Amino acid sequence: MRRDVCCSGKTGWRGVVHAYADLIGLPDGCPVVTLFEGGTPLVPAPGLARAAGMDLDVRLKLEGLNPTGSFKDRGMTVAVSAALGEGARLVVCASTGNTAASAAAFAARAGVACAVVVPEGKIALGKMAQACAYGARIVAIRGNFDQALTAVRAIAATGAAALVNSVNPWRIQGQMTAAFEIVDELGSAPDWLVLPVGNAGNITAYWKGFREYWAKYKALGRNVGLPRLGGFQASGAAPIVRGRPIPDPETVATAIRIGNPASWRTAVAAAQESQGFIDEVTDEEILRAYSLLASTEGVFAEPASCAAVAGMLKMARTGRLRAGDRVVLVLTGNGLKDPDTAVAASRAEIAECDADVDSVARAMGL
Ligand SMILES: *Cc1c(COP(=O)(O)O)cnc(C)c1O
Repeated sequence: MRRDVCCSGKTGWRGVVHAYADLIGLPDGCPVVTLFEGGTPLVPAPGLARAAGMDLDVRLKLEGLNPTGSFKDRGMTVAVSAALGEGARLVVCASTGNTAASAAAFAARAGVACAVVVPEGKIALGKMAQACAYGARIVAIRGNFDQALTAVRAIAATGAAALVNSVNPWRIQGQMTAAFEIVDELGSAPDWLVLPVGNAGNITAYWKGFREYWAKYKALGRNVGLPRLGGFQASGAAPIVRGRPIPDPETVATAIRIGNPASWRTAVAAAQESQGFIDEVTDEEILRAYSLLASTEGVFAEPASCAAVAGMLKMARTGRLRAGDRVVLVLTGNGLKDPDTAVAASRAEIAECDADVDSVARAMGL
């Protein structure tokens, strides 16, 4: 077990390619473009277990602590490294926001150009701020994510640019490392891994990662087990649950506002093979979980991430969890990404007052 490399902030952590080079498999001599991503903490969440009304060991994988604030960095370090190694001058992606922020950051670091295609008006403010700051060319289409992806796939097919969406297998290779870290830290796979599902690359990557780690340790005579996967879509953007593409997906969780996931088939396989499932949660459940998470655990995750929290509560309600289960929730992105939703969802009242001590004390309710 690589306990030496599993925790954020530990000295010597130099990113996922350095930590797991053998399992990622970039070609020898490939340059490594890294922001020392990965190595994120797995934080206990007893308050959520209490809210579920069950004796559970709930842990939060804080992917919002990656360099650009989402798990996309794990795959982007590998995809941009491979693109640079192949001589690409331009990387492109379609994005609901976080892929754009991550691609733009790693492209800047690599010294290659980056163009991102996003659905107009549907990108959370923090993500747009990042793409601007990192210097990407931003193209806002009058359309949704699925149409953006179709366009960039066609452009990349001409050879004009390297595509760094999760249809790029290097993205999946990098994102597998989150599964490795969880097993490294717990010593074995959890009973359940619960995560949001959008374009479905991440659930695909986790399952591949858990299986590869299981096989690696089996060869060494040790059984680290496999988790069951619980994937959650937002009800307004739940093509896999409905069994058909959704032409106009809609949800407050913009990171999973996707109507025709590129990795649909592998996501369904991951759920089935792990004896798990893919289900849905409503925007109302997502926003309730969003407030609960921040106010009981002190963890601020963006709305899409909170589909995992809402999903875990739904699993408890519907009898899918058993007492004693160890459940890892993947909190995919940082709450600061989407300040508009935070302010709108909060009932916090801001008490204005004069600047003297008495007024401040009164305003504080003293
Ligand atoms: C990309 C993203 C997702 C969805 O991941 P997929 O691999 O597209 O299923 C969920 N949450 C956040 C914050 C994301 O950025």
